Amino acid sequence: AASDKVIDGKAVAKTIRDEITVEVSRMKESIGVVPGLAVILVGDRKDSATYVRNKKKACESVGIQSFEVRLAEDSSEEEVMKSVSGFNDDPSVHGILVQLPLPSHMDEQNILNAVSIEKDVDGFHPLNIGRLAMRGREPLFVPCTPKGCIELLHRYNVDIKGKRAVVIGRSNIVGMPAALLLQREDATVTIIHSRTKNPEEITREADIIISAVGQPNMVRGSWIKPGAVLIDVGINPVEDPDAPRGYRLVGDICYEEASKVASAITPVPGGVGPMTIAMLLSNTLTSAKRIHNFQ
Ligand code: NDP
Repeated sequence: AASDKVIDGKAVAKTIRDEITVEVSRMKESIGVVPGLAVILVGDRKDSATYVRNKKKACESVGIQSFEVRLAEDSSEEEVMKSVSGFNDDPSVHGILVQLPLPSHMDEQNILNAVSIEKDVDGFHPLNIGRLAMRGREPLFVPCTPKGCIELLHRYNVDIKGKRAVVIGRSNIVGMPAALLLQREDATVTIIHSRTKNPEEITREADIIISAVGQPNMVRGSWIKPGAVLIDVGINPVEDPDAPRGYRLVGDICYEEASKVASAITPVPGGVGPMTIAMLLSNTLTSAKRIHNFQ
């Protein structure tokens, strides 16, 4: 049946959150430390506010303490920097997250560089990305969304070693680190981007596809090799007069077509999305354990 093919990110994320809950309370009981995550939100983008709210709720649900700073849209870069360095020095904070995008008058790179790499739970610090790219080096943190994609492959016992993997998209936060992770797992990796010619010829060779494009239903059934495993990161609103809000969310991969050809596929929503937050919690726990030398 078609449902046998579903990679249930929501369920896996729940399992991971339960594992984290157990570890958080074990840590608290053994050494009296509660992991803490600090979020810096600048401006009043509705979507960013929603993400921040969801992250806070997720923290609460596993017993992680959350801290939040909200700054006005017209704040200065110095004010953001001050919050970052305050959290860098705060021993009850083990993870710092700057909600992106920042207002356009700020230098995002400056700010991300200022986050202590020991607390860089988003994994966006260039040192962490650099280590991810280098053989024999270990990043302290891996970006949450691509990490969640790989975690799904592991939990569904998908072989990665020696397989052909195709990543669609090369953004700093998803596509590029996803490709690096697959390579670290010994896949043979090809990256498709907006200048790639005939992408469907490349995807047809893939045993594993991770798609992070932001184009609704771009990847058609005919692009897929029979039996391939598909991880769809895309979250794209499309108009739907029948939906309560007038739109619904679809992935980059045309689910209806692709699910007939693939051996496994993530739905949107309910696939990669819940995994991203689970990985953020996991990175925060890992950070607290590392800082307090707790195994
Ligand atoms: P970006 O816009 O930063 O990157 C999109 C990438 O896709 C770029 O590398 C771009 O190529 C490539 N691309 C765009 N159009 C095409 C095309 N027609 N053919 C091939 N490649 C194309 O997006 P993000 O990586 O930030 O996000 C991608 C998607 O994932 C979005 O839908 C976003 O909402 C979703 N997302 C989901 C998350 C989750 O938790 N599930 C988390 C983060 C993002 P080029 O580099 O040449 O411009």
